[in-house]
Amino acid sequence: RTALALREATAAGGWTLLDHPMLVLDVAGTPAFLEPDAVVVHPDGGWTVVEIKSFPMIDGSADAAKVGGAARQSAVYALALERVAARMDPAPPVRHHVLLVCPKDFSNLPTASAVDVRKQLSVTRRQLARLTRVEDIAAELPEGTTFDVRRPAAELTAAVESVPATYAPECLAACELAFHCRARARQAGEVTSLGRAIRGELGGLTSIGDVLAAARGEAGDPDDPAVATLRRAAGLRREALAGVGSPGGGATLQDVLTEEGQPCR
Ligand code: SF4
Repeated sequence: RTALALREATAAGGWTLLDHPMLVLDVAGTPAFLEPDAVVVHPDGGWTVVEIKSFPMIDGSADAAKVGGAARQSAVYALALERVAARMDPAPPVRHHVLLVCPKDFSNLPTASAVDVRKQLSVTRRQLARLTRVEDIAAELPEGTTFDVRRPAAELTAAVESVPATYAPECLAACELAFHCRARARQAGEVTSLGRAIRGELGGLTSIGDVLAAARGEAGDPDDPAVATLRRAAGLRREALAGVGSPGGGATLQDVLTEEGQPCR
């Protein structure tokens, strides 16, 4: 129905505001239903996403982090609109500036600003293109796997554990499975449990065992910058501990730094 309303409004050649239109975006082969606050159809046939937020715009500017979040959200809507436009001939242009509407200076009056979402659009496009399709993930699962929450706990746990997970501390704020995945990651000694930034810096070293072996000089390519850095850090740690262990020092730095094989947090 939204596609039909957009088609009619575009053909009419005037200003039209669609209030909470429903859009669909294909995410890894699964339809995701989206509802922007509004979409404006311009007399020239262009479409603009309107996003209404409750954070204030003070003297024409708002909290950068909140504006960034609104821009990322609006970019997804713009992408869904582009998919609708692509099915029309000629395809109407979807504007890459969205209209952000906020309260003006803590008042009840609205104010608006155009936000450029070109960067967020290209990031979202890239992320969507890289997502593994749900069918491909499902094809890897053992026959008969189900995530039906009415199944016995042991069966459900086994089903969840049959799917690989890449836990990171950021999951704690966003996913209900975070505690489960954290326990799995710690048990497996995965470096992602220390955070995505650390995971990125460690390159090909994916387990805490690999990291410790590289730091001790037992494994790893010495020309690998990550391995070289770990060895240098391990040397500095040894020197620090030797200093602490000398007369007058305490022997507690090891407790503070790390236990063997265990991350600090
Ligand atoms: S906590 Fe959620 S997002 Fe994070 S790895 Fe597990 S399932 Fe994925």
